[in-house]
Amino acid sequence: MERLKNKIRDIPDFPKPGIIFKDITPLVRDPAALRLAVHQLLSPFLGRDITAVAGMEARGFIFGSLVAWELGIPFVPLRKPGKLPYDVQSVSYDLEYGSATLEAHIDAFDCNDKVLLIDDLLATGGTAKASCELVEKLGAQVVACAFVVELDFLDGRKALDNYQVHSLLHY
Ligand code: 5GP
Repeated sequence: MERLKNKIRDIPDFPKPGIIFKDITPLVRDPAALRLAVHQLLSPFLGRDITAVAGMEARGFIFGSLVAWELGIPFVPLRKPGKLPYDVQSVSYDLEYGSATLEAHIDAFDCNDKVLLIDDLLATGGTAKASCELVEKLGAQVVACAFVVELDFLDGRKALDNYQVHSLLHY
């Protein structure tokens, strides 16, 4: 995991003063590191009954679609509002200041789908919890949530206490 940790860059004061942003772009531009991250993300779920992967916009698309491709199952993008062309279901959630919304097409999942949620990073857990709600509103079941990075000090795992959570790197 040190090999992956070396590919996460700290950017101080982004997107606002006082925040140290974990930048995953060095990881995704290193093919061996990206391959390792994808395999580590999916390894606990090999042999489990998972029928679809959902990824949160935008960095969840990178890791989620590669995991889905490796597993040979569908990938579903959970998108910011107004991006999807067909009818959508949506979930809104609170941020520190204001709120955010995620959307998915109403036919994104089959009602029997067992879904693995993937994002690059778990912070407060608001995004992931809303994503679980969105998947469930669409009639599918969330099997687990997997992240490349988890910021332990923000306790995001608590927001996901009904779900299995798998993270590769902890800070
Ligand atoms: P949460 O909803 O858990 O507070 O925030 C997680 C969401 O914000 C994820 O979709 C993630 O991509 C993004 N995010 C928050 N902080 C960071 C960060 O330091 N680095 C990266 N790469 N993404 C972050």
